[in-house]
Amino acid sequence: MKHETPGNFIANIVQEDVRKGKHGGKVITRFPPEPNGYLHIGHAKAVWLNFQIAQQHGGYCNLRFDDTNPEKEEAEFSSAIIEDVHWLGYRERQTCHASNYFARLFEYAVALIKKGKAYVCSLSADEIREQRGTLTAPGTESPYRARSIEENLGLFNKMRAGECRDGEHVLRAKIDMRSGNINMRDPVIYRIRHAHHHRSGDDWCIYPAYDFAHCASDSIEGITHSLCTLEFEDHRPLYDWFLQALGVHHPQQIEFARLELTHTITSKRKLKKLIDGGIVGGWDDPRLPTIAGMRRRGIPPAAIRNFCELIGVTKKDSQIEIELFETCVRDELNRTAPRAMAVLNPLKVVITNYPAGETEMLEAANNPGDPGAGTRRLPFAREIYIEKEDFMESPPKKFFRLSPGREVRLKYAWYVTCEEVIKDDAGEVVELHCRYDPASRGGGTPDGRKVKGTIHWVSAAHAVAAKVNLYDRLFSAANPAAADDPEGVLNPRSNVPVERALLEASLGGVQPGQAYQFERLGYFVADPLSRPGAIVFNRTITLYDSWEKIKRKQ
Ligand code: ATP
Ligand code: MG
Repeated sequence: MKHETPGNFIANIVQEDVRKGKHGGKVITRFPPEPNGYLHIGHAKAVWLNFQIAQQHGGYCNLRFDDTNPEKEEAEFSSAIIEDVHWLGYRERQTCHASNYFARLFEYAVALIKKGKAYVCSLSADEIREQRGTLTAPGTESPYRARSIEENLGLFNKMRAGECRDGEHVLRAKIDMRSGNINMRDPVIYRIRHAHHHRSGDDWCIYPAYDFAHCASDSIEGITHSLCTLEFEDHRPLYDWFLQALGVHHPQQIEFARLELTHTITSKRKLKKLIDGGIVGGWDDPRLPTIAGMRRRGIPPAAIRNFCELIGVTKKDSQIEIELFETCVRDELNRTAPRAMAVLNPLKVVITNYPAGETEMLEAANNPGDPGAGTRRLPFAREIYIEKEDFMESPPKKFFRLSPGREVRLKYAWYVTCEEVIKDDAGEVVELHCRYDPASRGGGTPDGRKVKGTIHWVSAAHAVAAKVNLYDRLFSAANPAAADDPEGVLNPRSNVPVERALLEASLGGVQPGQAYQFERLGYFVADPLSRPGAIVFNRTITLYDSWEKIKRKQ
Protein backbone atom coordinates (compact mmCIF):
# COMPACT_ATOMS: atom_id res chain seq x y z
CA MET A 1 0.00 0.00 0.00
CA LYS A 2 1.25 3.44 -0.87
CA HIS A 3 1.41 6.00 1.86
CA GLU A 4 3.13 9.38 1.77
CA THR A 5 5.14 9.63 4.95
CA PRO A 6 4.31 13.06 6.33
CA GLY A 7 7.45 13.18 8.48
CA ASN A 8 7.70 14.25 12.07
CA PHE A 9 7.91 18.00 12.62
CA ILE A 10 8.49 17.56 16.34
CA ALA A 11 11.55 15.38 15.71
CA ASN A 12 12.92 18.21 13.55
CA ILE A 13 12.33 20.83 16.25
CA VAL A 14 13.94 18.67 18.92
CA GLN A 15 16.91 17.86 16.72
CA GLU A 16 17.47 21.54 16.03
CA ASP A 17 17.22 22.35 19.77
CA VAL A 18 19.83 19.69 20.53
CA ARG A 19 22.09 21.04 17.81
CA LYS A 20 21.84 24.53 19.26
CA GLY A 21 22.50 23.25 22.76
CA LYS A 22 19.14 24.41 24.12
CA HIS A 23 18.48 22.94 27.60
CA GLY A 24 22.15 21.90 27.58
CA GLY A 25 21.40 19.59 24.64
CA LYS A 26 19.18 17.42 26.85
CA VAL A 27 15.86 15.89 25.83
CA ILE A 28 13.53 14.97 28.68
CA THR A 29 9.89 14.20 27.92
CA ARG A 30 6.93 12.77 29.80
CA PHE A 31 3.80 10.81 29.04
CA PRO A 32 1.06 12.21 31.30
CA PRO A 33 -2.07 10.02 31.34
CA GLU A 34 -5.01 10.64 33.57
CA PRO A 35 -5.62 7.28 35.31
CA ASN A 36 -9.34 7.22 34.53
CA GLY A 37 -9.34 4.43 31.96
CA TYR A 38 -7.13 2.14 29.92
CA LEU A 39 -4.74 3.40 27.25
CA HIS A 40 -5.83 3.19 23.62
CA ILE A 41 -4.16 3.42 20.22
CA GLY A 42 -4.23 7.24 20.42
CA HIS A 43 -2.26 7.13 23.66
CA ALA A 44 0.11 4.63 22.03
CA LYS A 45 1.03 7.35 19.59
CA ALA A 46 1.77 9.79 22.41
CA VAL A 47 3.79 7.07 24.21
CA TRP A 48 5.75 6.29 21.08
CA LEU A 49 6.43 9.97 20.32
CA ASN A 50 7.60 10.89 23.81
CA PHE A 51 9.77 7.84 24.43
CA GLN A 52 11.19 7.60 20.93
CA ILE A 53 12.28 11.23 20.73
CA ALA A 54 13.97 11.14 24.12
CA GLN A 55 15.73 7.85 23.32
CA GLN A 56 16.99 9.16 19.99
CA HIS A 57 18.87 11.92 21.75
CA GLY A 58 20.14 9.97 24.73
CA GLY A 59 17.49 11.47 26.99
CA TYR A 60 14.62 9.91 28.88
CA CYS A 61 10.89 9.96 29.37
CA ASN A 62 8.89 9.97 32.60
CA LEU A 63 5.53 8.37 33.10
CA ARG A 64 3.46 10.86 35.04
CA PHE A 65 0.01 10.22 36.35
CA ASP A 66 -2.07 13.33 36.07
CA ASP A 67 -3.98 12.54 39.25
CA THR A 68 -4.95 15.95 40.55
CA ASN A 69 -8.67 15.23 40.40
CA PRO A 70 -9.48 13.60 43.77
CA GLU A 71 -12.80 12.02 42.96
CA LYS A 72 -12.05 10.39 39.64
CA GLU A 73 -8.86 8.38 39.72
CA GLU A 74 -8.68 4.66 40.23
CA ALA A 75 -5.54 2.78 41.18
CA GLU A 76 -6.49 -0.17 38.93
CA PHE A 77 -5.99 2.05 35.91
CA SER A 78 -2.51 3.15 37.00
CA SER A 79 -1.13 -0.37 37.08
CA ALA A 80 -2.78 -1.20 33.75
CA ILE A 81 -1.18 1.89 32.21
CA ILE A 82 2.28 0.89 33.43
CA GLU A 83 1.82 -2.62 32.05
CA ASP A 84 0.70 -1.24 28.69
CA VAL A 85 3.62 1.18 28.35
CA HIS A 86 6.06 -1.66 29.09
CA TRP A 87 4.32 -3.96 26.63
CA LEU A 88 4.68 -1.30 23.94
CA GLY A 89 8.41 -1.67 24.49
CA TYR A 90 9.23 1.39 26.59
CA ARG A 91 10.62 1.94 30.08
CA GLU A 92 9.98 5.15 31.96
CA ARG A 93 12.89 6.72 33.86
CA GLN A 94 10.60 7.59 36.75
CA THR A 95 7.01 6.91 37.63
CA CYS A 96 5.69 10.25 38.85
CA HIS A 97 2.38 11.47 40.21
CA ALA A 98 1.20 15.04 39.93
CA SER A 99 -0.30 14.49 43.40
CA ASN A 100 3.24 14.09 44.80
CA TYR A 101 3.82 17.73 43.94
CA PHE A 102 0.85 19.11 45.89
CA ALA A 103 3.14 20.77 48.47
CA ARG A 104 5.35 22.32 45.75
CA LEU A 105 2.31 23.48 43.82
CA PHE A 106 0.95 25.13 46.94
CA GLU A 107 4.25 26.99 47.37
CA TYR A 108 4.12 28.06 43.74
CA ALA A 109 0.62 29.43 44.27
CA VAL A 110 1.78 31.34 47.33
CA ALA A 111 4.67 32.74 45.25
CA LEU A 112 2.20 33.98 42.65
CA ILE A 113 0.12 35.68 45.34
CA LYS A 114 3.23 37.34 46.75
CA LYS A 115 4.07 38.66 43.30
CA GLY A 116 0.59 40.13 43.02
CA LYS A 117 -0.17 37.68 40.20
CA ALA A 118 -2.92 35.67 41.90
CA TYR A 119 -5.89 36.53 44.08
CA VAL A 120 -8.60 34.83 46.07
CA CYS A 121 -11.94 35.35 44.39
CA SER A 122 -15.17 34.79 46.30
CA LEU A 123 -17.56 34.75 43.38
CA SER A 124 -19.52 31.55 42.84
CA ALA A 125 -18.60 29.21 39.99
CA ASP A 126 -21.66 30.43 38.07
CA GLU A 127 -20.74 34.07 38.55
CA ILE A 128 -17.20 33.42 37.39
CA ARG A 129 -18.52 31.68 34.31
CA GLU A 130 -20.94 34.53 33.54
CA GLN A 131 -18.23 37.13 33.92
CA ARG A 132 -15.77 35.32 31.66
CA GLY A 133 -17.29 36.90 28.55
CA THR A 134 -17.43 35.19 25.19
CA LEU A 135 -15.26 34.82 22.11
CA THR A 136 -16.49 38.24 20.96
CA ALA A 137 -17.17 40.00 24.27
CA PRO A 138 -14.48 40.69 26.88
CA GLY A 139 -14.85 39.43 30.43
CA THR A 140 -15.65 41.47 33.53
CA GLU A 141 -13.11 41.96 36.30
CA SER A 142 -13.97 40.31 39.60
CA PRO A 143 -14.74 42.71 42.47
CA TYR A 144 -12.20 40.69 44.51
CA ARG A 145 -9.39 41.30 42.03
CA ALA A 146 -8.07 44.24 44.06
CA ARG A 147 -7.63 42.32 47.31
CA SER A 148 -4.28 43.05 48.96
CA ILE A 149 -1.48 40.52 48.96
CA GLU A 150 -1.85 40.12 52.73
CA GLU A 151 -5.57 39.50 52.50
CA ASN A 152 -5.02 36.97 49.69
CA LEU A 153 -2.35 35.12 51.66
CA GLY A 154 -4.59 35.02 54.70
CA LEU A 155 -7.57 33.71 52.78
CA PHE A 156 -5.54 31.18 50.79
CA ASN A 157 -4.09 29.80 54.01
CA LYS A 158 -7.60 29.52 55.44
CA MET A 159 -8.67 27.65 52.30
CA ARG A 160 -5.78 25.27 52.74
CA ALA A 161 -6.46 24.86 56.49
CA GLY A 162 -9.96 23.56 55.82
CA GLU A 163 -11.73 26.61 57.23
CA CYS A 164 -13.81 27.25 54.11
CA ARG A 165 -16.65 25.44 52.42
CA ASP A 166 -16.43 23.92 48.94
CA GLY A 167 -16.99 26.70 46.42
CA GLU A 168 -16.65 29.51 48.95
CA HIS A 169 -13.48 30.86 47.32
CA VAL A 170 -11.09 30.01 44.52
CA LEU A 171 -7.59 31.18 43.76
CA ARG A 172 -7.33 32.86 40.36
CA ALA A 173 -4.41 34.06 38.28
CA LYS A 174 -4.46 37.80 37.69
CA ILE A 175 -3.92 38.07 33.95
CA ASP A 176 -6.28 39.90 31.62
CA MET A 177 -10.08 39.77 31.53
CA ARG A 178 -10.00 41.45 28.11
CA SER A 179 -7.67 38.89 26.52
CA GLY A 180 -8.80 37.52 23.17
CA ASN A 181 -7.89 34.08 24.58
CA ILE A 182 -10.52 33.09 27.12
CA ASN A 183 -8.02 30.84 28.90
CA MET A 184 -6.15 34.00 29.92
CA ARG A 185 -9.14 35.64 31.60
CA ASP A 186 -8.07 35.16 35.22
CA PRO A 187 -8.28 31.34 35.17
CA VAL A 188 -8.88 29.40 38.37
CA ILE A 189 -5.70 27.91 39.88
CA TYR A 190 -7.08 26.26 43.03
CA ARG A 191 -10.50 25.03 44.14
CA ILE A 192 -11.70 23.97 47.57
CA ARG A 193 -12.80 20.35 47.61
CA HIS A 194 -13.22 18.45 50.80
CA ALA A 195 -12.59 15.14 49.10
CA HIS A 196 -10.44 12.09 49.79
CA HIS A 197 -7.64 11.53 47.29
CA HIS A 198 -6.55 7.96 46.58
CA ARG A 199 -2.89 8.82 47.11
CA SER A 200 -2.71 11.92 49.29
CA GLY A 201 -5.62 10.85 51.46
CA ASP A 202 -7.11 13.72 53.44
CA ASP A 203 -3.96 15.87 53.45
CA TRP A 204 -5.51 18.40 51.14
CA CYS A 205 -8.86 20.09 50.79
CA ILE A 206 -7.76 22.39 47.98
CA TYR A 207 -6.81 20.98 44.58
CA PRO A 208 -4.93 22.65 41.71
CA ALA A 209 -6.50 23.14 38.29
CA TYR A 210 -5.11 21.13 35.38
CA ASP A 211 -3.42 24.02 33.56
CA PHE A 212 -1.53 25.04 36.66
CA ALA A 213 -0.60 21.55 37.83
CA HIS A 214 0.51 20.45 34.39
CA CYS A 215 3.02 23.15 33.55
CA ALA A 216 4.36 23.18 37.11
CA SER A 217 4.81 19.37 37.10
CA ASP A 218 6.65 19.59 33.78
CA SER A 219 8.90 22.25 35.26
CA ILE A 220 9.59 20.34 38.49
CA GLU A 221 10.65 17.26 36.51
CA GLY A 222 12.97 19.29 34.28
CA ILE A 223 11.04 18.35 31.14
CA THR A 224 12.54 20.00 28.06
CA HIS A 225 9.80 19.33 25.51
CA SER A 226 6.20 19.02 26.66
CA LEU A 227 4.36 17.31 23.82
CA CYS A 228 0.58 17.34 23.85
CA THR A 229 -2.37 17.20 21.50
CA LEU A 230 -3.80 20.14 19.57
CA GLU A 231 -6.64 20.92 21.94
CA PHE A 232 -4.01 22.41 24.25
CA GLU A 233 -2.77 24.92 21.69
CA ASP A 234 -5.02 27.66 23.15
CA HIS A 235 -3.69 26.82 26.60
CA ARG A 236 -0.05 27.37 25.63
CA PRO A 237 -0.08 31.12 26.44
CA LEU A 238 -1.25 30.19 29.92
CA TYR A 239 1.38 27.45 30.23
CA ASP A 240 4.01 30.03 29.34
CA TRP A 241 2.50 32.74 31.57
CA PHE A 242 2.57 30.58 34.72
CA LEU A 243 6.18 29.51 34.24
CA GLN A 244 7.35 33.01 33.39
CA ALA A 245 5.50 34.47 36.36
CA LEU A 246 7.09 31.89 38.65
CA GLY A 247 10.53 32.33 37.07
CA VAL A 248 11.17 28.56 37.05
CA HIS A 249 12.49 26.05 34.50
CA HIS A 250 10.43 26.50 31.36
CA PRO A 251 9.79 23.52 29.06
CA GLN A 252 8.59 24.12 25.52
CA GLN A 253 5.05 22.97 24.84
CA ILE A 254 4.52 21.62 21.32
CA GLU A 255 1.14 20.41 20.09
CA PHE A 256 0.46 17.67 17.56
CA ALA A 257 -2.66 16.21 15.94
CA ARG A 258 -4.49 13.43 17.77
CA LEU A 259 -4.49 10.04 16.15
CA GLU A 260 -7.96 9.12 14.95
CA LEU A 261 -8.65 5.91 13.03
CA THR A 262 -11.60 5.03 10.83
CA HIS A 263 -13.98 2.38 12.22
CA THR A 264 -12.60 3.14 15.67
CA ILE A 265 -13.53 5.07 18.79
CA THR A 266 -10.67 6.63 20.73
CA SER A 267 -12.27 8.30 23.68
CA LYS A 268 -12.00 6.75 27.10
CA ARG A 269 -15.45 8.02 27.99
CA LYS A 270 -17.08 6.40 24.95
CA LEU A 271 -15.10 3.18 25.38
CA LYS A 272 -16.27 3.01 28.98
CA LYS A 273 -19.85 3.36 27.80
CA LEU A 274 -19.45 0.31 25.55
CA ILE A 275 -18.04 -1.65 28.47
CA ASP A 276 -20.62 -0.52 31.01
CA GLY A 277 -23.38 -1.26 28.48
CA GLY A 278 -22.13 -4.83 28.04
CA ILE A 279 -21.51 -4.27 24.32
CA VAL A 280 -17.98 -5.60 24.80
CA GLY A 281 -16.50 -7.80 27.51
CA GLY A 282 -14.21 -5.31 29.25
CA TRP A 283 -11.28 -2.97 28.69
CA ASP A 284 -9.30 -5.87 27.19
CA ASP A 285 -11.99 -7.00 24.77
CA PRO A 286 -10.04 -7.94 21.61
CA ARG A 287 -12.30 -5.73 19.49
CA LEU A 288 -11.39 -2.56 21.37
CA PRO A 289 -8.55 -0.27 20.29
CA THR A 290 -7.22 -0.32 23.86
CA ILE A 291 -3.64 -1.51 24.29
CA ALA A 292 -4.96 -4.33 26.49
CA GLY A 293 -7.52 -5.26 23.81
CA MET A 294 -4.94 -5.16 21.03
CA ARG A 295 -2.59 -7.34 23.09
CA ARG A 296 -5.34 -9.91 23.58
CA ARG A 297 -6.17 -9.62 19.88
CA GLY A 298 -2.57 -10.64 19.05
CA ILE A 299 -1.41 -7.35 17.60
CA PRO A 300 2.38 -7.19 18.03
CA PRO A 301 3.73 -4.08 19.76
CA ALA A 302 6.21 -3.65 16.91
CA ALA A 303 3.30 -3.23 14.49
CA ILE A 304 1.96 -0.37 16.60
CA ARG A 305 5.36 1.31 16.73
CA ASN A 306 5.88 0.89 12.98
CA PHE A 307 2.44 2.33 12.33
CA CYS A 308 3.20 5.42 14.43
CA GLU A 309 6.46 5.89 12.54
CA LEU A 310 4.68 5.51 9.22
CA ILE A 311 1.89 8.01 9.85
CA GLY A 312 4.30 10.58 11.26
CA VAL A 313 3.50 13.58 13.40
CA THR A 314 1.65 16.60 12.04
CA LYS A 315 -0.39 19.55 13.20
CA LYS A 316 -3.35 18.70 11.01
CA ASP A 317 -6.26 16.73 12.46
CA SER A 318 -7.20 13.86 10.20
CA GLN A 319 -8.51 10.34 10.29
CA ILE A 320 -6.12 7.59 9.32
CA GLU A 321 -7.61 4.65 7.46
CA ILE A 322 -7.72 1.55 9.63
CA GLU A 323 -6.48 -0.43 6.62
CA LEU A 324 -3.09 1.21 6.99
CA PHE A 325 -2.87 -0.02 10.56
CA GLU A 326 -4.02 -3.48 9.49
CA THR A 327 -1.29 -3.57 6.86
CA CYS A 328 1.32 -2.85 9.54
CA VAL A 329 -0.11 -5.70 11.62
CA ARG A 330 0.02 -8.12 8.68
CA ASP A 331 3.54 -7.08 7.71
CA GLU A 332 4.83 -7.71 11.20
CA LEU A 333 2.99 -11.01 11.68
CA ASN A 334 3.99 -12.21 8.23
CA ARG A 335 7.61 -11.83 9.30
CA THR A 336 7.28 -13.26 12.77
CA ALA A 337 4.33 -15.64 13.09
CA PRO A 338 5.02 -19.33 12.45
CA ARG A 339 2.62 -21.11 10.12
CA ALA A 340 0.23 -23.79 11.25
CA MET A 341 -2.74 -25.64 9.82
CA ALA A 342 -6.18 -25.29 11.28
CA VAL A 343 -9.61 -26.21 9.95
CA LEU A 344 -12.45 -24.01 11.14
CA ASN A 345 -15.35 -25.81 9.52
CA PRO A 346 -14.29 -29.46 9.23
CA LEU A 347 -15.36 -31.89 6.51
CA LYS A 348 -14.11 -35.44 6.85
CA VAL A 349 -12.09 -36.93 3.99
CA VAL A 350 -11.10 -40.62 3.78
CA ILE A 351 -8.08 -41.38 1.58
CA THR A 352 -9.31 -44.76 0.43
CA ASN A 353 -6.03 -46.06 -0.96
CA TYR A 354 -3.95 -44.95 2.05
CA PRO A 355 -3.18 -47.83 4.43
CA ALA A 356 -5.36 -47.83 7.55
CA GLY A 357 -3.48 -47.46 10.83
CA GLU A 358 -0.43 -45.93 9.20
CA THR A 359 0.94 -42.48 10.07
CA GLU A 360 3.61 -40.66 8.14
CA MET A 361 5.39 -37.55 9.29
CA LEU A 362 5.65 -34.83 6.65
CA GLU A 363 7.95 -31.87 6.82
CA ALA A 364 6.50 -28.34 6.74
CA ALA A 365 8.22 -24.96 6.77
CA ASN A 366 7.47 -22.81 9.81
CA ASN A 367 7.82 -19.65 7.76
CA PRO A 368 8.50 -19.87 4.02
CA GLY A 369 9.88 -16.31 4.09
CA ASP A 370 12.34 -17.10 6.86
CA PRO A 371 14.38 -20.31 6.50
CA GLY A 372 15.80 -19.64 9.98
CA ALA A 373 12.37 -20.36 11.44
CA GLY A 374 12.97 -24.05 10.69
CA THR A 375 10.50 -26.80 9.98
CA ARG A 376 8.09 -28.99 11.88
CA ARG A 377 6.66 -32.44 11.34
CA LEU A 378 3.02 -32.93 10.45
CA PRO A 379 1.32 -36.29 10.94
CA PHE A 380 -0.64 -37.62 7.95
CA ALA A 381 -3.05 -40.58 8.06
CA ARG A 382 -5.94 -42.13 6.18
CA GLU A 383 -8.61 -39.82 7.60
CA ILE A 384 -8.20 -36.08 7.44
CA TYR A 385 -10.35 -32.98 7.73
CA ILE A 386 -10.50 -30.20 5.19
CA GLU A 387 -12.46 -26.95 5.18
CA LYS A 388 -16.08 -27.41 4.11
CA GLU A 389 -15.74 -24.34 1.90
CA ASP A 390 -12.92 -26.07 -0.02
CA PHE A 391 -15.37 -28.53 -1.56
CA MET A 392 -18.22 -27.86 -3.99
CA GLU A 393 -20.34 -30.51 -5.60
CA SER A 394 -21.24 -28.36 -8.60
CA PRO A 395 -18.50 -25.77 -8.75
CA PRO A 396 -18.64 -22.60 -10.83
CA LYS A 397 -15.97 -22.11 -13.45
CA LYS A 398 -13.41 -20.30 -11.30
CA PHE A 399 -13.53 -22.72 -8.37
CA PHE A 400 -10.20 -24.58 -8.36
CA ARG A 401 -10.54 -26.44 -5.10
CA LEU A 402 -12.02 -29.87 -4.53
CA SER A 403 -15.04 -31.17 -6.44
CA PRO A 404 -16.09 -34.57 -7.79
CA GLY A 405 -13.41 -35.92 -10.14
CA ARG A 406 -11.13 -32.93 -9.48
CA GLU A 407 -7.53 -33.29 -8.27
CA VAL A 408 -6.00 -30.83 -5.75
CA ARG A 409 -2.83 -30.58 -3.73
CA LEU A 410 -2.97 -31.12 0.01
CA LYS A 411 -0.47 -28.64 1.38
CA TYR A 412 2.89 -30.29 2.28
CA ALA A 413 1.40 -33.70 1.34
CA TRP A 414 -0.04 -35.36 -1.78
CA TYR A 415 -2.35 -34.84 -4.71
CA VAL A 416 -5.81 -36.22 -4.04
CA THR A 417 -8.77 -36.76 -6.35
CA CYS A 418 -12.36 -36.77 -5.12
CA GLU A 419 -14.12 -39.99 -6.08
CA GLU A 420 -17.20 -40.16 -3.91
CA VAL A 421 -19.44 -37.75 -2.05
CA ILE A 422 -21.32 -39.02 0.99
CA LYS A 423 -24.42 -37.19 2.19
CA ASP A 424 -26.70 -37.44 5.17
CA ASP A 425 -30.48 -37.83 4.98
CA ALA A 426 -30.90 -34.08 4.66
CA GLY A 427 -28.70 -34.12 1.57
CA GLU A 428 -25.78 -32.40 3.24
CA VAL A 429 -22.27 -33.48 2.32
CA VAL A 430 -20.74 -35.17 5.38
CA GLU A 431 -17.77 -37.05 4.00
CA LEU A 432 -15.63 -37.36 0.90
CA HIS A 433 -13.75 -40.36 -0.40
CA CYS A 434 -10.57 -39.49 -2.25
CA ARG A 435 -7.60 -41.35 -3.75
CA TYR A 436 -4.11 -40.03 -3.36
CA ASP A 437 -1.22 -40.33 -5.78
CA PRO A 438 1.73 -41.80 -3.82
CA ALA A 439 4.12 -40.36 -6.44
CA SER A 440 3.06 -36.79 -5.65
CA ARG A 441 4.57 -36.50 -2.19
CA GLY A 442 5.92 -33.02 -1.52
CA GLY A 443 3.69 -31.43 -4.12
CA GLY A 444 4.73 -32.59 -7.61
CA THR A 445 4.54 -35.70 -9.81
CA PRO A 446 7.01 -37.38 -12.20
CA ASP A 447 4.69 -36.68 -15.14
CA GLY A 448 4.71 -32.98 -14.21
CA ARG A 449 0.93 -32.64 -14.29
CA LYS A 450 -0.39 -29.49 -12.68
CA VAL A 451 -3.17 -28.96 -10.19
CA LYS A 452 -4.68 -25.57 -9.75
CA GLY A 453 -5.72 -25.70 -6.12
CA THR A 454 -3.85 -26.24 -2.87
CA ILE A 455 -5.86 -26.73 0.29
CA HIS A 456 -5.03 -27.15 3.98
CA TRP A 457 -5.96 -30.11 6.15
CA VAL A 458 -5.39 -31.75 9.51
CA SER A 459 -5.09 -35.43 10.38
CA ALA A 460 -8.30 -36.62 12.06
CA ALA A 461 -6.54 -38.88 14.53
CA HIS A 462 -4.00 -36.28 15.60
CA ALA A 463 -5.88 -32.97 15.46
CA VAL A 464 -6.63 -31.03 18.64
CA ALA A 465 -9.92 -29.23 19.16
CA ALA A 466 -10.06 -25.52 19.90
CA LYS A 467 -12.49 -22.68 20.22
CA VAL A 468 -11.71 -19.90 17.77
CA ASN A 469 -13.11 -16.40 18.05
CA LEU A 470 -13.33 -14.83 14.61
CA TYR A 471 -12.96 -11.17 15.49
CA ASP A 472 -13.60 -8.40 13.05
CA ARG A 473 -14.02 -4.62 13.26
CA LEU A 474 -16.35 -3.53 16.04
CA PHE A 475 -18.00 -0.82 13.96
CA SER A 476 -19.23 -1.08 10.41
CA ALA A 477 -19.42 2.71 10.07
CA ALA A 478 -16.21 4.44 9.02
CA ASN A 479 -16.69 7.21 11.57
CA PRO A 480 -18.53 5.76 14.57
CA ALA A 481 -17.50 8.69 16.77
CA ALA A 482 -19.61 10.96 14.58
CA ALA A 483 -22.71 8.76 14.84
CA ASP A 484 -25.44 9.99 17.20
CA ASP A 485 -25.36 6.60 18.82
CA PRO A 486 -22.24 4.50 18.13
CA GLU A 487 -24.17 1.44 19.27
CA GLY A 488 -26.34 1.84 16.19
CA VAL A 489 -23.39 1.32 13.84
CA LEU A 490 -21.91 -1.81 15.38
CA ASN A 491 -20.75 -4.60 13.09
CA PRO A 492 -23.09 -7.52 13.94
CA ARG A 493 -20.31 -9.95 12.97
CA SER A 494 -17.55 -8.43 15.09
CA ASN A 495 -17.14 -11.76 16.88
CA VAL A 496 -18.19 -15.05 15.33
CA PRO A 497 -17.16 -17.84 17.70
CA VAL A 498 -16.28 -21.23 16.23
CA GLU A 499 -16.82 -23.73 19.01
CA ARG A 500 -14.95 -26.69 17.56
CA ALA A 501 -12.18 -25.96 15.14
CA LEU A 502 -9.44 -28.56 14.57
CA LEU A 503 -5.77 -27.66 14.82
CA GLU A 504 -2.64 -29.51 13.77
CA ALA A 505 -1.22 -31.66 16.55
CA SER A 506 1.77 -29.40 17.28
CA LEU A 507 -0.59 -26.77 18.73
CA GLY A 508 -1.78 -29.04 21.54
CA GLY A 509 0.52 -27.38 24.06
CA VAL A 510 0.26 -23.81 22.79
CA GLN A 511 1.12 -21.09 25.28
CA PRO A 512 -1.19 -18.08 25.77
CA GLY A 513 -0.08 -15.13 23.66
CA GLN A 514 1.57 -17.25 20.97
CA ALA A 515 0.72 -16.03 17.48
CA TYR A 516 0.36 -18.12 14.31
CA GLN A 517 -0.59 -17.75 10.74
CA PHE A 518 -3.20 -20.41 10.13
CA GLU A 519 -2.51 -21.22 6.48
CA ARG A 520 -4.97 -19.57 4.12
CA LEU A 521 -7.09 -18.25 7.02
CA GLY A 522 -5.29 -15.41 8.72
CA TYR A 523 -3.35 -14.57 11.87
CA PHE A 524 -4.46 -15.96 15.19
CA VAL A 525 -3.23 -15.78 18.77
CA ALA A 526 -3.80 -18.04 21.76
CA ASP A 527 -6.02 -16.24 24.27
CA PRO A 528 -4.65 -15.51 27.78
CA LEU A 529 -7.22 -17.97 29.15
CA SER A 530 -6.27 -20.74 26.71
CA ARG A 531 -4.87 -23.94 28.24
CA PRO A 532 -4.21 -27.47 27.05
CA GLY A 533 -7.51 -29.28 26.70
CA ALA A 534 -9.41 -25.99 26.45
CA ILE A 535 -7.54 -24.16 23.73
CA VAL A 536 -8.88 -20.77 22.65
CA PHE A 537 -7.57 -18.80 19.71
CA ASN A 538 -8.50 -15.24 18.72
CA ARG A 539 -8.34 -14.09 15.15
CA THR A 540 -6.06 -11.08 14.96
CA ILE A 541 -6.70 -10.36 11.32
CA THR A 542 -7.44 -12.05 8.01
CA LEU A 543 -4.66 -12.52 5.46
CA TYR A 544 -5.95 -9.87 3.08
CA ASP A 545 -8.96 -7.70 3.10
CA SER A 546 -11.30 -6.76 0.32
CA TRP A 547 -10.05 -3.19 0.47
CA GLU A 548 -6.51 -4.30 -0.38
CA LYS A 549 -7.76 -6.56 -3.14
CA ILE A 550 -9.53 -3.64 -4.72
CA LYS A 551 -6.39 -1.53 -4.49
CA ARG A 552 -4.26 -4.26 -6.06
CA LYS A 553 -6.57 -4.47 -9.05
CA GLN A 554 -6.26 -0.75 -9.73
P1 ATP B 1 -9.39 10.50 26.09
O1 ATP B 1 -10.04 11.52 25.21
O2 ATP B 1 -9.35 9.15 25.50
O3 ATP B 1 -9.92 10.51 27.49
P2 ATP B 1 -7.28 12.08 27.08
O4 ATP B 1 -6.53 13.04 26.24
O5 ATP B 1 -8.24 12.66 28.03
O6 ATP B 1 -7.89 10.98 26.15
P3 ATP B 1 -5.11 11.53 28.81
O7 ATP B 1 -4.98 10.43 29.79
O8 ATP B 1 -5.24 12.90 29.31
O9 ATP B 1 -6.34 11.15 27.89
O10 ATP B 1 -3.95 11.45 27.73
C1 ATP B 1 -2.58 11.25 28.03
C2 ATP B 1 -1.76 11.75 26.89
O11 ATP B 1 -2.10 11.06 25.69
C3 ATP B 1 -1.98 13.22 26.62
O12 ATP B 1 -0.72 13.83 26.43
C4 ATP B 1 -2.82 13.24 25.39
O13 ATP B 1 -2.57 14.41 24.65
C5 ATP B 1 -2.38 11.98 24.66
N1 ATP B 1 -3.46 11.47 23.81
C6 ATP B 1 -4.70 11.14 24.19
N2 ATP B 1 -5.44 10.75 23.13
C7 ATP B 1 -4.63 10.83 22.05
C8 ATP B 1 -4.80 10.57 20.65
N3 ATP B 1 -5.96 10.15 20.16
N4 ATP B 1 -3.74 10.75 19.83
C9 ATP B 1 -2.56 11.17 20.33
N5 ATP B 1 -2.34 11.43 21.62
C10 ATP B 1 -3.35 11.28 22.48
MG1 MG C 1 -7.35 14.23 29.37
